[in-house]
Amino acid sequence: MSRELTRLLLDRRRFLVGAGAAIAGAVGAAPQSHAAEPFHITQGSFAVSVISDGHLVLPTRFLAPEIPSPEREAAFQSGERGQEQYASPTNVTLIRAGAELILVDAGSGSHFMPTAGKLAANLEAAGIRREAITQIVFTHGHPDHLWGTIDDLDDLTFPQARYVVAAAEWNFWQGDNALNGLPADRAGFVTGARRNYARIKNKVQMVKPGDEITPGIRVVDSSGHTQGHVSLEIAGADGLIIGGDALTHPVISFAHPQWRPAADHEPERAVQTRRRLLDRLATDRSKLIGFHLPYPGLGTVERKDGAFRFVPAT
Ligand SMILES: [Zn+2]
Repeated sequence: MSRELTRLLLDRRRFLVGAGAAIAGAVGAAPQSHAAEPFHITQGSFAVSVISDGHLVLPTRFLAPEIPSPEREAAFQSGERGQEQYASPTNVTLIRAGAELILVDAGSGSHFMPTAGKLAANLEAAGIRREAITQIVFTHGHPDHLWGTIDDLDDLTFPQARYVVAAAEWNFWQGDNALNGLPADRAGFVTGARRNYARIKNKVQMVKPGDEITPGIRVVDSSGHTQGHVSLEIAGADGLIIGGDALTHPVISFAHPQWRPAADHEPERAVQTRRRLLDRLATDRSKLIGFHLPYPGLGTVERKDGAFRFVPAT
């Protein structure tokens, strides 16, 4: 795992060229990088949209490195079988709450992967100026959620926004455990998180699970993927959970919640969180938007064969 991720982060060009054929297959099965139309729903008193930030190209094995290859392959979607890489969509949620225009995560920006970082362009295509965003709530500090905070010119991408970060997540990335507790190949994640956080430190509000961002939008603990990972619960009807990276794959995260993806910082806690969240979603019949689920990432959860199943809304 470590060698592959290092290559991904430090030598992106060689990685992409060397894996060209496999990537072509994975990307061919992927949603569009630039969603032609943003996706809209109404949730209670909120207008909720999903804007694509493009997609990531990731080693397929990362989804469950401890599971024997044949068993892992059988769980993949047909377009992913036999591929060394797969395309993981990146769905950013936008909430209009009265006068507030709230983004949940800021996307990858231009320094992570060439297939991602399309959020600002896709917002503009939808007629939403970067200056109109009043608030950004981060689910966690990984590159595909945080690094879009800063634009190509090293300025704030969303210059008028205030920022909301879970205190546990902020403290993790700023603390010694980020460097000492993560594999060495993720040192770049720590540098990037600190660089982006430093730019917003005078405009940030710390929150904890249970807090309300604004009336009707509540922070939910979904830690494990990272130490302070949070989701958001939007009030209305049976509820809507914006899950972030608690559930990252439309089959594996639901049918095999006990499998441990390489991206989870605290694998056992992430398993517990997935089971708790899936049970809640299936029981309450709440809607879910998953950051990495097939665009727009919206669906519901059903129980199936002692585990769960994602039912896309579209
Ligand atoms: Zn992610």
